[in-house]
Amino acid sequence: MLAENWRVNEASHWLCYSGNRLDRVAPKRADSSWIEQQINRDDARFIVFVSGSVVLTQNAGAPCPLLSAELADKLPVRREDAVFLGVDHEDGDTPYFAQWFTLKADDLSEAISEFGPFTCAGLRAMALTKSYSANTYGMLAQAAALSRWHSTHPKCSICGADTEVDEGGYRRKCPSCEALHFPRTDPAVIMLISYGDECLLGRPYHLAENMYSTLAGFVEPGETMEDAVRREVFEEAGVEVGEVSYVGSQPWPFPSNIMLGFRGVARSKTLNIDYQEMQDCQWFTKEETAKMLGGIAESGLFCPPDISISHYLIRSFVNEG
Ligand SMILES: [Zn+2]
Repeated sequence: MLAENWRVNEASHWLCYSGNRLDRVAPKRADSSWIEQQINRDDARFIVFVSGSVVLTQNAGAPCPLLSAELADKLPVRREDAVFLGVDHEDGDTPYFAQWFTLKADDLSEAISEFGPFTCAGLRAMALTKSYSANTYGMLAQAAALSRWHSTHPKCSICGADTEVDEGGYRRKCPSCEALHFPRTDPAVIMLISYGDECLLGRPYHLAENMYSTLAGFVEPGETMEDAVRREVFEEAGVEVGEVSYVGSQPWPFPSNIMLGFRGVARSKTLNIDYQEMQDCQWFTKEETAKMLGGIAESGLFCPPDISISHYLIRSFVNEG
């Protein structure tokens, strides 16, 4: 088991969805009889998604996303299709699995209640409640990304045949051409760009009204993360960035990204905004940014909530001397 204490020095440790302590047991998960044993343990727990939302049951009066096998079996999923997440050595080696199914319904919570004592909720809304442990949020992120990938990759991308779950769910195998397919994680850079006492924040069109966030974008093939930071900031805001440095990372299961946080120093404050992508970009002073973080800016502008690495990056800038 890994000691926890050194992790507190890493930015990633403090971020939502980053506290997953499961041992993914790579040496054993290729053994299908071992996986079967785990899946049939009395204490096995299942995280089940219905059309992207987490299925919840009541446990001691609180909504709980960790279902017993007995409860998960009431849902329209097959236990043998569950994908393996890992075992929790701090809790009796409890094995965890993930499942996914879709349901067409106007009211998902109502539709899911027909299968048993269930409701459902979105991962983002669950994070904002802060009702669960860091480990639970970490497992939810892993379960969401992995089970969604399986639901959207039933076919071989080389020959078109139906593929099968392999290694407990950490890959799919094509029985026809023997190609192996691995779950994807999409790297995205997210960066706090500063110029002296000011930082650059922007609004893509999809953000909540009045919210300003750090800029972000996907890493492209054949590109370093540092170059992706410089390219994205130049594309979105027209700002030239010099040196960048890595801060920390956050699994971001919407649907399966890893957010790679950076700080960067602008070479000038000149803006040339790409209005196809961004509604606005602005430079904000440290004082104004602090108020936006606290939700008390006279302008009514505010920053993302503290479940996000964006908030962390902005706060670390504000807290600097
Ligand atoms: Zn194939």
